[in-house]
Amino acid sequence: MTSTSPSRPALSGVREAVRRTPAYPFTPIDAPIKLDQNESAQDLPPQLRALALERLAQQDWNRYPDLHADTLRRKIAAYEGWDPAGVVVTPGSNVLIKLLTELSGLGQTFLTVKPTFSVYTLEASLLGANTVQVPLNPDFSLPVAGLVEALKTEGPGLLFVTQPHAPTGHLDAEADVKAVLDAAGEGWVAVLDEAYYQFSGSDGRALIREQPNRISLRTFSKAWGLAGLRLGYALTSPELAENLQKVVSAFNVNILTQTVAEVALEHPEYVRERAEQTVRERERVLSALQDHPVYTALPSRANFFLLKTPDADAAYQHLLARGVLVRRQDKLPMLSGCLRVSIGAPQENDVLLAALGEVS
Ligand SMILES: *Cc1c(COP(=O)(O)O)cnc(C)c1O
Repeated sequence: MTSTSPSRPALSGVREAVRRTPAYPFTPIDAPIKLDQNESAQDLPPQLRALALERLAQQDWNRYPDLHADTLRRKIAAYEGWDPAGVVVTPGSNVLIKLLTELSGLGQTFLTVKPTFSVYTLEASLLGANTVQVPLNPDFSLPVAGLVEALKTEGPGLLFVTQPHAPTGHLDAEADVKAVLDAAGEGWVAVLDEAYYQFSGSDGRALIREQPNRISLRTFSKAWGLAGLRLGYALTSPELAENLQKVVSAFNVNILTQTVAEVALEHPEYVRERAEQTVRERERVLSALQDHPVYTALPSRANFFLLKTPDADAAYQHLLARGVLVRRQDKLPMLSGCLRVSIGAPQENDVLLAALGEVS
C-alpha cells in the first residue's frame, strides 16, 4: 500500500529521508502455527499471569508511572548483576535502536553488517544517518577486517553487532566480537544486540564492561515469552546511560508493562527451562532436516533457523497451505531462496517437519 497517489501533493513538509524510507516490511497473516516472528511458543506461566493481574488490580491507573521505571531498572540490574545506573528501559528494544540512532547515528555514521536486522537500517534511513554496511563473510561470520577498517575511517558514529546474528542465527567466536569492539574507539558508540543470547550460551556482559562506550541490548520479547508487553533494556556504563536516558521520553514504560515485568523478574526460573527446551527442539528439527532431498536447513544458535530452498515463494506457500506461517528472507543479500523459521512448541515443530517431509 502506498499512501500518496500521483495527483496529490508530496507532503514536502515531511523530511525527505522519511518520505523515501519504506515502511517496516511486515504483513500480518493468520495461521494456526505461527513461526514467523521468533516469539516464544509459550506465554508467561499461568500462576505468574495471575499474580501480575492481582498486582495490576491494586495499582492507581490514573497516576503516571515512575519517571524512569526505577523499580523495574533495579530489578533488572539485580537479575543481570549490573549497576542500576547503567540500565535503561524502553517499550521494546526496537525503541532503543531508534534512540541510539538519535544519540549517535544522526548526522554521523551508522555502521553494521549486511544482511542484518531490518530495523537497524530502517531507523538509520529515517534519521538520515550515513549508513555503512560491510557484507558478512560467505559462512555468515563477522567480517572482522572489513569492520575494523570501517571503524578506522568512517567515524564518529554508531556500530551495531548482533550476537547471535539475525537473520542468520550465526554466533561468532568471542575473540572476533572483541576484536571488532576493541576497534570501536572513543569516536564510536558500540552496540551488541543480544536479543537471542539465551539460546546461544553466549553472554556479552564482560565485553560491555570493558569500555564505557559499549552497550548491550536485551529484550523480554523472545526467551521471556513477553513480546506483547513491549519491553527491552540496555546494559551500559552510567555515563552512556545518562546520555541515553535524555533521549528516552519521560514515563515511557507504562505501569502495566512495569508490573508484569517485575513479576517475571521475581520468578525468572522459567526462562532458563524454556530456553533449554527451545534449544533441544532446534537441534531436533535441524537434525531431522539434515538429509532433506530439496531443502537445506542452516545451523543456528538462536530460536530460529534459515531454510534454503530452490524457490522461496513455492516453499512458503506450501507451508502456509499446511497452516505453518514462516518469514521470507529471500530478498536479502546472500539469502536467496531463504525462509526464516522460528522454533515453536514440539507439536508445532512436528507439523512443520511433516509438511517439509512431503517435499521431494
Ligand atoms: C526480536 C529482536 C529484537 C527485539 O525487539 P523488541 O522491540 O524488544 O521486541 C531486537 N533485535 C533483534 C535482532 C531482534 O531479532
